[in-house]
Amino acid sequence: MPTRLEALRNADTQHAIEIADRVWWVGHVIPDDHFQCHVYLLEQGDQSVLFDPGSRLTFAHTLRKIEEVLPLSAIRWFVCHHQDPDIAAALPMIDRLNTRRDAAVVTHWRAKALLKHYGLELPFWLVDEHEWRLELEDRTLEFIFTPYAHFPGAFCSFDRRSGVLFSSDLFGGFTEQPQLIALDESYFDAVRPFHEHYMPSSDILDYALNQIEQHPVEMIAAQHGSIIPQHLVGFIIDKLRHLDCGLYLLGQGDTDIQRLSQLNRTLRDITETMLLYRDFRDIATRLLEVVQRSLPVSHIDYYAALPDEQILSLKAKARFVGIVDPSVPSACRFVGQDLSDWYRAHAEEPALADHELYPEGFCLQPEGDEGASIAVPLTANQSEQIEAIAILIFDKPPLITSSTAQLIAQMIEPLKIALEREVIYRSIDFERERAYQRSIRDPLTKLFTRFYMQDVMSRHLALQERDMAPPVAALLIDLDHFKQINDTHGHGAGDRVLQQVAELIQAQCRSVDVPVRFGGEEFLVLVIGQRIEGAIELAERLNRVIAAHAFDIDRSEPLRVTASLGIAQRAPEEEINSLIHRADMALYEAKRAGRNRFQVSESEGDESPS
Ligand code: GH3
Ligand code: MG
Ligand code: MG
Repeated sequence: MPTRLEALRNADTQHAIEIADRVWWVGHVIPDDHFQCHVYLLEQGDQSVLFDPGSRLTFAHTLRKIEEVLPLSAIRWFVCHHQDPDIAAALPMIDRLNTRRDAAVVTHWRAKALLKHYGLELPFWLVDEHEWRLELEDRTLEFIFTPYAHFPGAFCSFDRRSGVLFSSDLFGGFTEQPQLIALDESYFDAVRPFHEHYMPSSDILDYALNQIEQHPVEMIAAQHGSIIPQHLVGFIIDKLRHLDCGLYLLGQGDTDIQRLSQLNRTLRDITETMLLYRDFRDIATRLLEVVQRSLPVSHIDYYAALPDEQILSLKAKARFVGIVDPSVPSACRFVGQDLSDWYRAHAEEPALADHELYPEGFCLQPEGDEGASIAVPLTANQSEQIEAIAILIFDKPPLITSSTAQLIAQMIEPLKIALEREVIYRSIDFERERAYQRSIRDPLTKLFTRFYMQDVMSRHLALQERDMAPPVAALLIDLDHFKQINDTHGHGAGDRVLQQVAELIQAQCRSVDVPVRFGGEEFLVLVIGQRIEGAIELAERLNRVIAAHAFDIDRSEPLRVTASLGIAQRAPEEEINSLIHRADMALYEAKRAGRNRFQVSESEGDESPS
């Protein structure tokens, strides 16, 4: 770090400060003045130059600092880059103190047209009549025309010898804490709002920057904010080139620059949030932080329509993990309706009379004694249908000003996109989950499907190969004379029997067992973790409970049904299909032996049929 810069950073602003060779800062910082008007003095013997002399409020201080360097009478040239009172209101005082005949106010004819109303003795020396140059003793001041940047006759001065650009409003900044020299790139945060508000358009600003870039600028001495040292000059110019200005138009009558700056920053942060984050959780969390800077929101919840008319809740308290939640706020009844219904309801329904509807479309509703919420309807692009609602929750009623209303309105577009994206993702997730559930559960009996059985057993058997999983037995169940039930009572009655058998099987199984609807009226239970005795016990129980069950088929007489079962214990490394085949063989034996009984596979066990 250059020592000169270091010295400048620590310089005492109660005195004149030499910022470059014979270039002095002689400004004065009024407490709580974010503009911090700076005045500069170019020391040049009795041809010295004072830039933008300052206001009535600061001139006494400026005069004292000038006189630390040289007497006021040494100043011949008083440059006014434009005519604002914070630059020029000191001119009548200077006029009274001036003793020189050759002193003059250096300005542009457009500024003179206004400055002449001070009725000064001092004559004007117009830059546009002197080829935009002023020859001094050992240097030449070059004037750079930057029209309309903030005033039609605005210009800057460049001293090629020191490399200092006296830039007036251009490159100015708003700073909370006075800082004579900009420290690092973060200073652009101070420059940005100033230019957003003061520069009417980026085209005009670009023109001015193009003019300035033709000069080898080593330091920018702006009228407001901080002095920009050489290493930041390129950076700041580049950032200004990409700035959207004229944003004051958004202010809609709001003249509080600080508040507008805050709003602009918030709007920018919202946009940046949308660009930076993909995940809705991140967007919502960040958005809350951003909005909290302007409004005392405690949290924001979101409710969005899913394709099947369900509502997806994305709540702050649940970290925006989307769930289908039946208990949603009353405003959610508008999800799926038209925006016109929203407006009509708020105008006509007595129940909504205490809700305050804003032109931006959102609605402030009191909640209980103290709190309040704001419901923001979000429509899909190109549509008037409300697809989602954002609810901002407040612990106490918020004060809605034009800029906070604007802020809320500004959230709408990005939120629409984020929520639309989220609904698509969640719908895919839900559909995938439903498809999976469909594929693993039989719709009639709600038992597992063969597909799921294959899936889970291949994993289980893989574990068993490594002695990590317990043994497995297959228990195959086939209803006896089921065809007759269909034939006598109809297919519907048959279905009801199947459902009730499934319930009985489910009730007898432990949570580790896998009950499967294996075929039409055939069921399979994979009995996990038990020797053959466990499977036999289960088979006995099933025979008993099925035979004892009074099957309700919507007739006065309940039906009696029995089942036959085949059991096989899995042999080491046996394939699942082979295991089931052996169970089927055993089942066949049970049928042959007279039904309503079980049989254990011969090839594996030594049990005899019951
Ligand atoms: P067995 O004691 O020898 O098993 O005699 P069964 O009548 O049960 O003979 P089988 O197993 O061949 O008959 C199966 C019958 O189950 C035939 C078919 O119509 C019926 N079925 C299959 N799936 C369903 C279903 O989902 N619902 C109904 N109601 N009936 C079904
Ligand atoms: Mg059968
Ligand atoms: Mg059968």
